[in-house]
Amino acid sequence: MGRIEKDKRMLLWMVHLYCDYNHSKDGKLCEGCSRLIHYSYQRISKCSYGEKKTSCRRCKTPCYNPVMKRKIKAVMRFSGPRVLFHHPFRWMKNQF
Ligand SMILES: [Zn+2]
Repeated sequence: MGRIEKDKRMLLWMVHLYCDYNHSKDGKLCEGCSRLIHYSYQRISKCSYGEKKTSCRRCKTPCYNPVMKRKIKAVMRFSGPRVLFHHPFRWMKNQF
């Protein structure tokens, strides 16, 4: 699996976790989070670093618009520690 595919998976996972706790009532992603995923997938696919990309958090040329950036930051802040706590092995395997 390439770097891009890995990042997409991790992102989807984190947004799901975030949405489950904060918005979702029936286990499905809410509209806002679906849009966030869609947007992020597009950014990742168009990343100028391609498969050599690092984690988006450490990127020197961030490509998210300010609104989406704020949203994704909230997701990371919420899901990051929970991912580590609940799924440390999965986390390590993904090396996010
Ligand atoms: Zn949501």
